[in-house]
Amino acid sequence: MIDLRSDTVTAPTDAMRAAIAQAPVGDDLYGEDPTVRALEERVADLFGHEAALYCVSGTLANQLAVRTVTPVGSDVLCDYRAHIVRAEHGAHAAVSGITTRTWMHPRGLADSDTIAELIAPASSHFVSTASISIENTHNFAGGLVHDIAALQGVRALADANGLAVHLDGARIWNAHIASGVALREYGAIADVLSACLSKGLGAPVGSLVIGSRERIAEAREWRARLGAAWRQAGVLAAAGLHALDHHVERLADDHVHARMLAEACGVDPDSVETNIVVVPCADAGVLVAKVREAGVVLGALDPRTVRLVTHRDVSRADIERAVTVLGRALPDAGR
Ligand SMILES: *Cc1c(COP(=O)(O)O)cnc(C)c1O
Repeated sequence: MIDLRSDTVTAPTDAMRAAIAQAPVGDDLYGEDPTVRALEERVADLFGHEAALYCVSGTLANQLAVRTVTPVGSDVLCDYRAHIVRAEHGAHAAVSGITTRTWMHPRGLADSDTIAELIAPASSHFVSTASISIENTHNFAGGLVHDIAALQGVRALADANGLAVHLDGARIWNAHIASGVALREYGAIADVLSACLSKGLGAPVGSLVIGSRERIAEAREWRARLGAAWRQAGVLAAAGLHALDHHVERLADDHVHARMLAEACGVDPDSVETNIVVVPCADAGVLVAKVREAGVVLGALDPRTVRLVTHRDVSRADIERAVTVLGRALPDAGR
């Protein structure tokens, strides 16, 4: 099976398993796991921040990150298709007492003028805005990479209004490889961010919250409160360190593969910047079923949209086969 549902399906390589087997470990709740500490220090430094916290998932990392910049009963602003508002099971409301208001942009861009209209100052009538959340790359907008100038515009808008910026960087590595913008430059636009190791980087588990020492200490306390503190998590963190050493630069291959799939699906390859291709069609269910018979697995985002995601575990030969399979199935799905 050629699995193009998500880059989360990647399995650890033999070399990664060897790194896991050799990892020195300790009790992380006592701050004594050297591998977890090494991962946290390395990732904080990559983004030019003071500290980081290793977490079980991106959903937990985002939850902890957003709450450090958004007090109970206040707003976080985000795109209407942001992962934090669409795909985290209402966690920010259910767990953190935070409300969300969303902006709409047809291409998923972070336009400061659009965002500015949503900002509500503290008043006796309205929920006050505390933070702005940006997703880079933007998953449901087709792996879009935000222009660094636009992100700096959002930073300036936040500063002018006394707001914080959260960056959902689940796929920030893909943005970095596609744009050539340094991770530190992305780090500089955010007060707090999250980054994922278990998507394109191919680690089996893990995301990090990254920010100031103070915010990370607060996130650490909440992680424990939610029952998600670790013990000898160095066996997992070792996979993350291995991924940072060996799996970042190769994301460029995934981006080339995504353009090949786009072309096969009649989507403008120049609109595909990273590893995600969103394909509108008359019947997503038919397309998913047809290609599955031929050994290609896709996911439907909704009844008229499928999403294809490239990653480490699909080779050039797999992509070539998927192109042939898609070419045969697309007309039946009204594309
Ligand atoms: C996958 C994803 C997350 C959450 O990661 P999980 O580890 O699946 O909880 C957060 N943000 C974005 C943009 C994602 O794509």
